[in-house]
Amino acid sequence: MMKNRITRTENGLPLLTLRKGKEESLDRFHPWVFSGALTYMPQEDDEVEEGDLVAVAAADGRIIGTGHFQIGSIAVRMLTFDAAEVVDKEFFAKRLEAAAGLRSVLGLPNAETTAFRLVHGEGDFLPGLVVDVYGETAVIQAHSPGMHFARKTIAEALTAMPGLGIKSVYYKSETTLPYKARLDPENGYLIGDFISDTATENGLRFRIDWLRGQKTGFFVDQRDNRALVGRYSRGRSVLNMFCYTGGFSVYALAGGARSVVSVDSSAKAISLTDANVALNFPGDTRHTSSAEDAFKYLDTMEKGVHDLIILDPPAFAKHRSVLRNALQGYRRLNAKAFDKIAPGGILFTFSCSQAVSKEQFRLAVFSAAAQSRRRVRILHQLTQPADHPVNIYHPEGEYLKGLVLYVE
Ligand code: SAH
Repeated sequence: MMKNRITRTENGLPLLTLRKGKEESLDRFHPWVFSGALTYMPQEDDEVEEGDLVAVAAADGRIIGTGHFQIGSIAVRMLTFDAAEVVDKEFFAKRLEAAAGLRSVLGLPNAETTAFRLVHGEGDFLPGLVVDVYGETAVIQAHSPGMHFARKTIAEALTAMPGLGIKSVYYKSETTLPYKARLDPENGYLIGDFISDTATENGLRFRIDWLRGQKTGFFVDQRDNRALVGRYSRGRSVLNMFCYTGGFSVYALAGGARSVVSVDSSAKAISLTDANVALNFPGDTRHTSSAEDAFKYLDTMEKGVHDLIILDPPAFAKHRSVLRNALQGYRRLNAKAFDKIAPGGILFTFSCSQAVSKEQFRLAVFSAAAQSRRRVRILHQLTQPADHPVNIYHPEGEYLKGLVLYVE
């Protein structure tokens, strides 16, 4: 086979060139280079490995910036649009410091909240990287081979930042890295060891299981929305569907709910919920839980029992290809809630599918409402909190959508 089809820049980086006109989105700082935009996609026998740093040039040879190379539909995730900037240890330290700087603008962490997202991928100009902080522990998730290879540098930079007080760094990427890259990532501590699995959110305490839990162990992205549930819960009979670790349930109890029922199909999730309720409200008889399928639960539930319902299902559409089914799923789920919620009820309904737009989600909920023939008004339109910032050049980063509805 022909070798060395790849040319290199002056500082030795492999240079990938875009087809004519394909530089437009990059010139508007969109951080993804699709494989089809390249004049030549490196092959296995080329001297470019998945995860390598590569320079990207326009058809006229102008270097646009540097990113992480990967085999797949997204071929390069851009790390910098400054052709002169070198991506090294110092680069990562700088980007992480900038991420921490934004969190300090947001007042995170603070005495009441020690669980927050420090790095939200493209939203922090670090595509492929997620870092959630739980007190003195940071949990890293790599979504790209490049970030997998940078994990130790990142872990060192995290513990070196004086303001954050991070002592342990846990790496959790067994399920987030492309399987085909054959990186065989192992979950485990990169720095330090277990310190504590309890973190706080708005003064409430949560046990976080990053070893076995979903994602990094906790859904930090619902913090602001949970607080809103707390504000509406006084005297209400709350149903928290897809409760996972019981975040919404704990806030509803703190907000003075008359009763709270938590439902999740996973028995493990139910035991995590029960534990978090007990941690905050030991012996509180207002809370009950049930390991059941949400659709079945809603089908068999009596009408008018609950006047505050939360629907926070897993992403129904993980890919664009299943979008239609996903929208049907949201419509069916919400229709069941509209059918059962008591008059004067408040419905919190969410979608965390990136492939589903705000408009599409709203349309699915609209169809469900129309089917119920009830009077429905939108009180709030919700999204992800500010520690999950959306890079304005990467609108795909806005993934969490929620509606708070008043149902008569
Ligand atoms: N609301 C949660 C996050 C939900 S994650 C929070 O604030 O932290 C989605 C949850 O839905 C998972 O715990 C998963 O076990 C549960 N789930 C998935 N399919 C389900 C189904 N058909 N019925 C009930 N729960 C389901």
